[in-house]
Amino acid sequence: MGDSITPAVVVHGGAGFIHPDRYESARQGCERAARAGLTVLAGGGSALDAAQAAVRVLEDDPAFNAGVGAVLTRAGAAEMDAAVMDGRDLRVGAVAAMANARQPIDIARAVLDDGEHILLCAEGAWAFARERGFTPCDPAEIITERSRERLEEARRRAGHTVREVDPELHDPGTVGACAVDAAGHVAAATSTGGMTFKRTGRIGDTPLPGAGTYADDRGGAASATGEGEAIIRVTMTRTCVELMRSGLPARTAAWASADELADRVGGSGGIICVDARGRIGLAHNSETMSWAAGTLDRSELRVTSGVRAERDQNL
Ligand code: ASP
Repeated sequence: MGDSITPAVVVHGGAGFIHPDRYESARQGCERAARAGLTVLAGGGSALDAAQAAVRVLEDDPAFNAGVGAVLTRAGAAEMDAAVMDGRDLRVGAVAAMANARQPIDIARAVLDDGEHILLCAEGAWAFARERGFTPCDPAEIITERSRERLEEARRRAGHTVREVDPELHDPGTVGACAVDAAGHVAAATSTGGMTFKRTGRIGDTPLPGAGTYADDRGGAASATGEGEAIIRVTMTRTCVELMRSGLPARTAAWASADELADRVGGSGGIICVDARGRIGLAHNSETMSWAAGTLDRSELRVTSGVRAERDQNL
């Protein structure tokens, strides 16, 4: 069966309402990330390394709400969540409410490699990260003009979350990646600044295994984006992976999970996934979700991308 697996990477750049002016930058950013992941696979790297590499590229891109460009809490700080999970043995590493981290996914990976704990938050996460040689960055490296404008807009409408007032103001940008390697192992990684105007200390779905991020070789890997509180309630990525484990193709599992998010808790969001055979799924019930999907076919990289997914789309 190993021979029939096509190594693949799928990434998202967040579900919500992407302004048409930003379609191109979102699509191109996702493509760059998918290529970075595929390059790792082409070099014989693992799905775990590929998913992390793809997310690193998106964290470095100010067009997205992760790492550089992370959105701000109502106190004006960037507090980031990230997780990475290996489908081979269900190891997970995650960080939450972490300030001043340029590449939170690398610290999440260090938590995974360390193995003592699964999820570290805030100052405790930094105590661990320092031990592992990471150093905090200047907040100015992360906070962009756009993050500030988004917070100002939210403050003008104080008393409401951005989403309650106007869904168009929830400019997406959480990032995620799922990968399958030549050995048939899967992995998922997700990183975010969360939601503009969130309370200090709020932790979303992203770093919670089974909510924003999940991977199990027996089914596949998934990364979610959208309203974190809703995604947590339906444990969206675990649901998707279990559906793939029961035999559903990735595409069908992705749509079933996005539908459940809307039908069961009225949540807006999206999901990307890969099943253990290397088939790719993407779905969203939000207006848009930027994505890119690529396969490695006899060392040839094939990448497609978009800002919407269709139910009958075959990747
Ligand atoms: N899911 C993220 C969170 O709630 C936000 C997003 O994906 O846009 O933190």
